[in-house]
Parts: sequence; structure tokens; C-alpha cells
Amino acid sequence: MANRHTGISWATLGLQEGATANPIRAVNKETGDEGHFCIRKNGRCRQCYSSRFNEQRFRGTLGTGLGFSAQNLKKVDIIWKEKHAAQVWGWTKPTGVFWADMTDYAGEWVPAWMRYRMFAYATLAKQHRHAFLTKRPQLLLDMLSDGYRQGVIDELLNISALHKTARKQNEIIGAIHDIQDGFDPFTANNWLWGVTIGHQDDMDQFKMILHDIKQQRPNIRLWVSYEPAHGPVNWWPLYGVVEWIVGGAESRQEPDQPLVEADEEWFSSTAGWCRHAGIAYYHKQMGTLWAEKHHVAGKADNPAEWPEALCVREFPEF
Ligand code: SF4
Repeated sequence: MANRHTGISWATLGLQEGATANPIRAVNKETGDEGHFCIRKNGRCRQCYSSRFNEQRFRGTLGTGLGFSAQNLKKVDIIWKEKHAAQVWGWTKPTGVFWADMTDYAGEWVPAWMRYRMFAYATLAKQHRHAFLTKRPQLLLDMLSDGYRQGVIDELLNISALHKTARKQNEIIGAIHDIQDGFDPFTANNWLWGVTIGHQDDMDQFKMILHDIKQQRPNIRLWVSYEPAHGPVNWWPLYGVVEWIVGGAESRQEPDQPLVEADEEWFSSTAGWCRHAGIAYYHKQMGTLWAEKHHVAGKADNPAEWPEALCVREFPEF
């Protein structure tokens, strides 16, 4: 099932409801257990919640039992769960949808058609706001070719074979015609394309890619996940390129897990930069170490407990 009531507070995207949907899944070839798969990309993946969840088989029901490493790729089959994506299209109440939050949709192990199928469903689900997030933005740039639109059209055609009601057929045909007439889902007003930048190293690695994307599609809506924050970042290279930053410090998944202690100043200067740049800032959480120091519960995700300067939870305009 897609998760209609996610605990990821920013996933509402400014609406009343926030959801996650994970149609890209993995199956352990040996045990048949179903879960998720990803490959750690950089230091920001160190405490990956999804890897731990998957390895420990959450409530004994979901998870391949394998951690997220390149060596484990040969032990899983990547599979597509149609109903998880189709459900999102079926929800009538406008909802913020964070797609593929348990993996990286832009990972090289994900078959291209699965990405296009996911985008095809997001194209159909016009009533919602959609967020995508990756640590591999080069793929975003690569997808800007014409092949991207054709890939979405091909998957809309495949979806049309599965949904036979007149209403759904009409919506699919309408979406195909829109794309053929020039509509580019990549730049749809209700789609937000995110990249995780948790450290200056990520900024140095990704800034030119993000500029190139923006240059090719000036109307694309880009945002940054500064979570987990692993150091101060100079955001000026992204002035005029991104329109939203979500910030937060690391939360502990295991006892004795080493965490990066985030400085409040990293976040207040990020929030200040967003103000100067005229873009939205959303502070998600202060993190476990801050919570322990200030004797508050969990990962300190309740704004009532924070310094006033960080009580900022803005969304970009839609
Ligand atoms: S990219 Fe995301 S899901 Fe994949 S290992 Fe890193 S933190 Fe986990």
C-alpha cells in the first residue's frame, strides 16, 4: 500500500495530507522476502533509515533482510508494484506525494521503464502535488532528452491496458495528447524535483548539474533536501536555481549509533539565505543529539521546542 499518512511532515507539500508511494521494490532471490533496495551514494546515506528498516524486516512483514550495498544487488530482483502507484491516481483528495522515499529512483539499478511508469502515474494524478528526491541528479539531466517524454507516453499506453473504465481511459488518452501537444510533465507546476545536499562536498559536486538542468528547462521546479545536514553549506551557487530547502539534523536509528552533531547556526544561516533569495525554507527537525542535549523527546521535530529563528515551515507556492 502507498502510505497515506506518512510521518514525513514536509511531504504534505502545503496540503492537508502527505503520503509516500514506493512502487519500485526489491525481492530477495533466496528467501522471496519483499522490501526495498538502494546503494549508498555518499556520507549522507550513512544512517539510512530505509536500509535499516529493510535489513531488520520491519515488524517481520516487509524487508528483503539485506542492507543497501552494491554487493547485495545480485541478491535481489527489482520489481514494480502496480497497485502502489495506481492507488495514488485513485485518491480524490488533493495530497502531497513523496515518491520512492525508501530508495533512490535515479539509481542505475532501477530499470528506466519503472521510472517512466512512476512519472506516468504522477502525470495522471493531476489532483496531487508530487515530490521526487535523489542523490544522483545526473540522471535528471540525462532524462531531459526527448526520450523522456516518449518513455512516459509508452508507459501511459501500458497503463491503459490495465485500467479499462471509460473515465480512466479518457484521462490516459488526455494525458497522452497533452504530452504530444507539447506539455512537459518535467516542468509541471505540481512537480518538485529534489536533490540531497547535506554537505559542501555535495554542493561542489552537484551545482553545475543543477545549473545545467535549470538552463535546459527554466520552468523546472528544483528543491534541496539539506537533511541530514552534515556541515555548513554555501547556498549562493544555487541562487535563482532552487525554490525550496528542507533542513534537518540526523536522527538515531540504533543505540550507540555515531551521529553528526548539527550546529544550529547551519540551519539559521540557511533559513536566512532562503529569505534573502526569496525562496521557502522548511525546518523539519533538530535531530536526536540536539533533543538529548535539550531534554526533549525523539528527534526534536516539534517546532514548539525549537529556537524561534528556526520555527520556519514554509512551502513553495503552487
Ligand atoms: S540514497 Fe536514500 S535510500 Fe538510498 S541509501 Fe542513500 S539515504 Fe538510503
